[in-house]
Amino acid sequence: MDVGARMDFSHLVAYLKKLEVTSSQNAMIEILGRLFKEADPDEIGILCYFLLGEIAAGYQEISLDMGEKRALSSISLAIGVEEKKLEERLGEAGDLGALIAQYDVPPHAGGFTEYFSPPLPLTVRALHEGLTAIASASGEGSDLRKIGILASLLAVATPEERRYIVRLATGAMRLGVGDMTALDGLAVAFLGSKESRSFLEQAYNLCSDIGYVAEILQKDGLSGVKRIRITLNRPLRPMLAQRVSTMEEIQEKIISKEIAVEEKYDGERIQAHKDGEQVELFSRRLTRVTAQFPDVVREIKQHVRTGSAVLDGEVVAYNREKGTYEPFQTLMQRRRKYRVAQYAVQIPVRYMVFDLVYRDGSPLLDRSYPERRASLEEIMEPSELIAITDRTIASSLDGIRSYFEDCIKRGLEGVICKSMAKDSVYEAGSRSWKWIKWKQTYGSELPDTLDLVAIGGNLGRGSRAGTYGSLLCATYNPDGDVFESICGLGTGFSDEQLEELPDKFGKVRVGEMPARYRVKKEKYPDHWFNPAFVLEVLGSEITRSPMHTCNWDERARKGLAVRFPRFIRWRPEKSPVQATTSREIAELYRQKGKR
Ligand code: AMP
Repeated sequence: MDVGARMDFSHLVAYLKKLEVTSSQNAMIEILGRLFKEADPDEIGILCYFLLGEIAAGYQEISLDMGEKRALSSISLAIGVEEKKLEERLGEAGDLGALIAQYDVPPHAGGFTEYFSPPLPLTVRALHEGLTAIASASGEGSDLRKIGILASLLAVATPEERRYIVRLATGAMRLGVGDMTALDGLAVAFLGSKESRSFLEQAYNLCSDIGYVAEILQKDGLSGVKRIRITLNRPLRPMLAQRVSTMEEIQEKIISKEIAVEEKYDGERIQAHKDGEQVELFSRRLTRVTAQFPDVVREIKQHVRTGSAVLDGEVVAYNREKGTYEPFQTLMQRRRKYRVAQYAVQIPVRYMVFDLVYRDGSPLLDRSYPERRASLEEIMEPSELIAITDRTIASSLDGIRSYFEDCIKRGLEGVICKSMAKDSVYEAGSRSWKWIKWKQTYGSELPDTLDLVAIGGNLGRGSRAGTYGSLLCATYNPDGDVFESICGLGTGFSDEQLEELPDKFGKVRVGEMPARYRVKKEKYPDHWFNPAFVLEVLGSEITRSPMHTCNWDERARKGLAVRFPRFIRWRPEKSPVQATTSREIAELYRQKGKR
């Protein structure tokens, strides 16, 4: 084992402690900048992962599988305290990290060398090697192996370091550092200021691996980062669609003589990477979901006729007898680890492909939509369960409207209008005006539902005792990498959904307001939650309010809020940073005047 790298873990811990007590975003970025400058080439990627509470790029889906029980066994071995005693004190301590930090057992080389022998003092690299070894332990004897490795890491650490090791190992790091903040820190360290973050963000959009971007930046500078390309088996961030509030605006915004009006499906966004006979599927959250859809993998192998390709499309539940699509809820039953094959037969899906961004070694991102579509048509042989999105090409508002109405009649959600102009490139990771969605409006004044992040909860009273009476919801603001409150949400939940809330949020509850939240004191909830769950909300309108921080206007001392919000459904396929952005809310507010 090569553990000769420079940075001691205690050095990183000093930074982590500072980050934890910093609520100013700029101060956080400065701290990160200093930390990154100190890193060796083989440490910088690891630092990025650790700061985000991970040990590898999210899409690699590396799981340590270190639940509370296993962690308690490791702690017990490392510090020589009985598991039962630890369990008794856990409730009061609050979490495993706080619990272990209470025991003043000095670092010592443990007797667990059989599994792993980290150096004393512990280094950042050795900790990463150890955690990676825990993740790769599987099969017979893996339980003991996982426990033993974590125990050996904890043994050589100081009580303070142990706190962070346990939190990293159990997936509870919660530093409040988001991807964009980490990129800001990298820009400060290597490019002089956070203004240059956008270059790093573009590369990140293409490879979804912040550690990789950091390594290239440190090694080859900005020119190296600019050379980062879409790569097979590494998901790119999907391009997203904008919304408008009148159909006329579609034509105003998409400056293209002809507009492609495509069917909009209510399913799950899936990016497929075909590498010869190998197919990998990635969700909108960029997690690997290949095992969940063996039927989609089969269809791609049979009907996509090219050596390598990256496809973008929507998987929709499909009724084979009637030839119709089923709602999103039906598709959600396919989210499972077990009995996958049985459910693939019970709930068939159809993969509707709408884009091709890579073909036979060449990225197609910079090609126009008509060119990409033509290329897609060349390689796809449509069949019952895989096809290219249906569309019409409209050159008038009537054309868009009649296709939209036709889609609604056929039970679809709406349409996505796409520019056909020369510059209609695929903009990975951005919500672009080259794509505009138009949905059925559910009779609301707002043209579309919003996807908000639950950031806190107020305890319920009366019939809601024992659960939450309302959830505090927020939009995401990518400029500051922060979440801004926009409404309290108490209506629209069924009894079962209400009952589930305490359990669901128990896992993400934290003692204090996370650093990335912007909330007015008056709106502080009883419980704070880490950003984890996205919910779809229907509101009657966007209004100005002194109570919410979304698009806060310091002079008027007002932000924007949603009136009469109603819960529609959970959006498990969206991550918090994919929620509706504050800028979109500002745009909806601005459009209000036009309706
Ligand atoms: P929304 O989730 O409401 O923001 O709508 C955008 C989503 O619609 C995309 O992220 C896709 O998952 C989905 N979608 C369905 N049909 C299409 C299509 N033809 N083109 C692009 N996106 C589509």
